[in-house]
Amino acid sequence: MKLIGPFKQIVTLANLPLRGKLSDEQLEIIPDGGILVKDGTILKTGNFSALKAEFSEIEIEEIKGEQVCLPAFTDSHTHICFGGNRANDFALRNAGKTYLEIAESGGGIWSSVLHTRKATEDELLQTVLERINFLIALGITTIEIKSGYGLDVENELKMLRVIKKAQSFTKATLVPTCLSAHLKPKDFTGSSEEYLEYIIDEILPKIKAENLAKRVDIFIEKSAFLPEESRNFLLKAKEIGFEITVHADQFTSGSSRIAVEVGAKSADHLEATIDEDIEFLAKSNTVATALPGASLGLGEKFTPARKILDAGGILAIASDWNPGSAPMGNLITQASILATFEKLSTAEVLAGITFRSAFALNLEDRGILENGKKADFITFKTDNFQNILYHQGSLKAEHIFIDGEKV
Ligand SMILES: [Zn+2]
Repeated sequence: MKLIGPFKQIVTLANLPLRGKLSDEQLEIIPDGGILVKDGTILKTGNFSALKAEFSEIEIEEIKGEQVCLPAFTDSHTHICFGGNRANDFALRNAGKTYLEIAESGGGIWSSVLHTRKATEDELLQTVLERINFLIALGITTIEIKSGYGLDVENELKMLRVIKKAQSFTKATLVPTCLSAHLKPKDFTGSSEEYLEYIIDEILPKIKAENLAKRVDIFIEKSAFLPEESRNFLLKAKEIGFEITVHADQFTSGSSRIAVEVGAKSADHLEATIDEDIEFLAKSNTVATALPGASLGLGEKFTPARKILDAGGILAIASDWNPGSAPMGNLITQASILATFEKLSTAEVLAGITFRSAFALNLEDRGILENGKKADFITFKTDNFQNILYHQGSLKAEHIFIDGEKV
């Protein structure tokens, strides 16, 4: 057992609803707080001096200077396992080239597929670990990572094996997701429906046998997979025991409705979701995930986060870190910017990158600093939690604790 503190403020995020809007007055803030930890789990939070008096015999890990403590963040949507770089796509897009012109000049998702296929497992492992360390330094200790740049049995398994291997090199929690349905690969000779069948018949059973992922994702969009074939695919994946998540409504509306209907854990993107579908989504248990990094990377509008929260939805915010549309990777900057455009309270943003995004990954053991939760928490060198989003990512996390141990 160990007492960690004192912290100028602990923002616990305890006693908040899973869904709907939040005001900052609802935040529980413990001044001069401490956290009691045992075996990687939080036993108690409270006033540091009072805890010190109550548990006089225990080890104390002293925190120096004025530090604000809050739960470590969860990034519930990333594509950080990839080879190559798409800076040329970014430049061409900003120079006014279309999606098609960029693809024709050797860019787009397919170029990431070719680079990822060419990379060895060791090369991929090295780059994914660098990106994981970048995220940990931001205070993110739970990271979802998708496949989807392999697009055949061999290379999709290679990506997921790399993610599994990465887990043995980091204390962060990695959550792998199969996104073989990212795009029909150029070298697949059948229809997109046949490619989806190939994933069900050839890829998912092997993923299951090697225990490489428990989640399946699909990109539903005109340029990727159409709504009806996607619905069938998702229902089949669910039937064989996978959790479901969807890239929905990024450019055209309609697919968030499918995500809700098939019982997806989350529907991510939603930049193009129409009001009627926001209402439908907000009444469900499917988490609505905003990906402001993609809006910033593409120069597109933001997810209607305000409307989703006002309608009572569960809003998570994730980075979508990927080489094409969201190369930044800084979730704190992105969430802060989303807040200014969508008028989100600090409480709504913090909930969206902690317990609400963890819920999207089916992890209800974290993201709140209270008795029984995983002792993943972070500190910022400041006297007031409002400074974190105010600085839009330029105030860096000072200490990162995973399972109660400083990393
Ligand atoms: Zn994505």
